[in-house]
Amino acid sequence: MNLKGKCACGEVNYVINDKPLFTQACHCKNCKISTGSSYVIHTMIFEDDFFIEGKISSTELDTGSGKGYHAYFCIKCGVYLYCKYKIASGRLAIRTSTLEKPITPQAHIFVKDKDPWIEISNKDICHESMYDRDKTWPLDSLSRLSAKEK
Ligand SMILES: [Zn+2]
Ligand SMILES: [Zn+2]
Repeated sequence: MNLKGKCACGEVNYVINDKPLFTQACHCKNCKISTGSSYVIHTMIFEDDFFIEGKISSTELDTGSGKGYHAYFCIKCGVYLYCKYKIASGRLAIRTSTLEKPITPQAHIFVKDKDPWIEISNKDICHESMYDRDKTWPLDSLSRLSAKEK
């Protein structure tokens, strides 16, 4: 499996060469600010599967949990391509909409902060805030994760 993505100006191109673990939309206030829009879509992958070309810059930001994360941007056009949460070692969260082909979110989180004019048709995958990963991620992704963490 090979997924390709890029920034707006084409300086940065990347390839993910294995199946992503999980894709989720986040409607929290931080994600609204960082996208300048109503929500972000993140695709979780293993860092080992990620290959990037082009110049990027990064900055450290706070998370709700207080643990923080690093955000990575194209040095020319400033498009925010992915981030790395300090608590999720060995994994990256790709900004799904920078991928060539869209991926449908498997969960919507922080729906309590969702803009009122957005209607999510599949209520079964909506979570008021964060979900319990063990109950939400597909078994296949959970077992790949535990194999990697050993
Ligand atoms: Zn760019
Ligand atoms: Zn968020």
